[in-house]
Amino acid sequence: MKHVVMVIEDEEAIALLLKYNLEKEGYDVVVEARGNKALGEVERHHPSLILLDWMLPEVSGVEICKLIRTKPDIKNIPIIMLTAKGEEEDKVKGLSAGADDYVTKPFSIPELLARVKSQLRRVPEPHTEKELVFEDIRMDLIEKKVFRGDNYIHLGPTEFRLLKMLMETPAKVFSREYLLKTVWGDNIYVESRTVDVHIRRLRKSLNDFGPDYIRTVRATGYALDNTPQSETEEDA
Ligand code: CA
Repeated sequence: MKHVVMVIEDEEAIALLLKYNLEKEGYDVVVEARGNKALGEVERHHPSLILLDWMLPEVSGVEICKLIRTKPDIKNIPIIMLTAKGEEEDKVKGLSAGADDYVTKPFSIPELLARVKSQLRRVPEPHTEKELVFEDIRMDLIEKKVFRGDNYIHLGPTEFRLLKMLMETPAKVFSREYLLKTVWGDNIYVESRTVDVHIRRLRKSLNDFGPDYIRTVRATGYALDNTPQSETEEDA
């Protein structure tokens, strides 16, 4: 598996230049141009490293950096700030917002790549897990297939992503908002009830072959739990 580097940059030419050079180095690259979408996209892609532009529309790079550092799931992702400002004061501001490094535009590509590499040294290799297992449910991540015992379970792509998220951290309660953001992404408008619809489909597919391990947490969301659930809780 390759490291995913996320480029949060609104200047298309720079974003493309970074994408091209990072991909040449063997990284997978995700680009986001909108400051207000950046946080959700970081949560969704969970990159190994973030290149974050200082000046973004709507929400500044410094604000995004501060927000990332408050979120337990993503707060340890290394951040390199990119900026046109070379002022010492801004550098201090960027670093005190939680950035790990700082590159001033115009930057040299070899220098930037060296800094990326240096930050990635402390990031574990992305997991190379081939499957996820919870009780009798097995998810083959390579073939993208789900089995329950010996039975193949056909799931739609959304149900597959939902189940993957639940299986990655059993017992963790995922809020509808979090599931929406990470499974559907920030780019599409969907109501939080949509999550319930897809969870119901997922349950229906899985429960033909065994007990219900998806727990509905009242007013919050869902978790994967090996305590069998009663039918009545489903529509809570
Ligand atoms: Ca910019």
